[in-house]
Amino acid sequence: MRKQVIAGNWKMNGDSGFITELVNGIIKESTDLNNIDIIFIPPAIYASKVIELTVTSNIAVGLQNVYFESKGAYTGETSTEMAKDIGASHILVGHSERRQYYGETNEWVSKKTSCVLNNSLTPIVCLGESLEQRESGKLEEVLGAQLSEGLFHLSADDFSKVIIAYEPVWAIGTGKTASPEQAQEVHAFIRNLIKEKYGDTVSEKIIIQYGGSVNDKNAKELLGQADIDGALVGGASLKVDGFSAILKEANNL
Ligand code: PEP
Repeated sequence: MRKQVIAGNWKMNGDSGFITELVNGIIKESTDLNNIDIIFIPPAIYASKVIELTVTSNIAVGLQNVYFESKGAYTGETSTEMAKDIGASHILVGHSERRQYYGETNEWVSKKTSCVLNNSLTPIVCLGESLEQRESGKLEEVLGAQLSEGLFHLSADDFSKVIIAYEPVWAIGTGKTASPEQAQEVHAFIRNLIKEKYGDTVSEKIIIQYGGSVNDKNAKELLGQADIDGALVGGASLKVDGFSAILKEANNL
């Protein structure tokens, strides 16, 4: 059975005081949750602080983005080596906000994913369709291209270390979530594409999170679907009570 993996993407939110309270609050609520993996993904500037605050807990810390070069004249960028140096373990790759606002392409996703894996960190690679793409019947084509162009260059061994997050763009930050049936259908489709490319063992092992307005009310039903192995949570990860409730639902499955 695959373990549920719950990650909180804090996006560009918080300050030192807020983050300290949030981390301490969630640590307190999650000490007995041994069946799940928990990841905080703070703004990069606070990542070292969050790593210090979580050092005695089982909570991992990731970054929201890295560049695929290791060093050099890339003003404003952070390398995977730097993420590793401070003790981060996971990197979000290809989040829809990066694709939408910063022009991140499937080609960049492929380079960043390789770079993260080459540094022995875990990429959480986001896939998802826009409402327009879904309504015009392009969902399978879009997800197929995101997978094949972004990830299918990897060896089976490397691919099985990736976490995939299916995040329909129309459900992110909108309060509209995919129904559990809609989400399950797409997760099964993604797992099947992985099976066709890498075979049963890899496709059964790979973690596929769902993301898009997950909260304490809808988490249980979404996470209870056969092919949903956790959640990438945005807005609700900024509240101690809301995020802790999601963690408990996942732990109790
Ligand atoms: C996200 O940022 O990945 C996300 C899913 O956000 P939200 O939960 O706010 O929709």
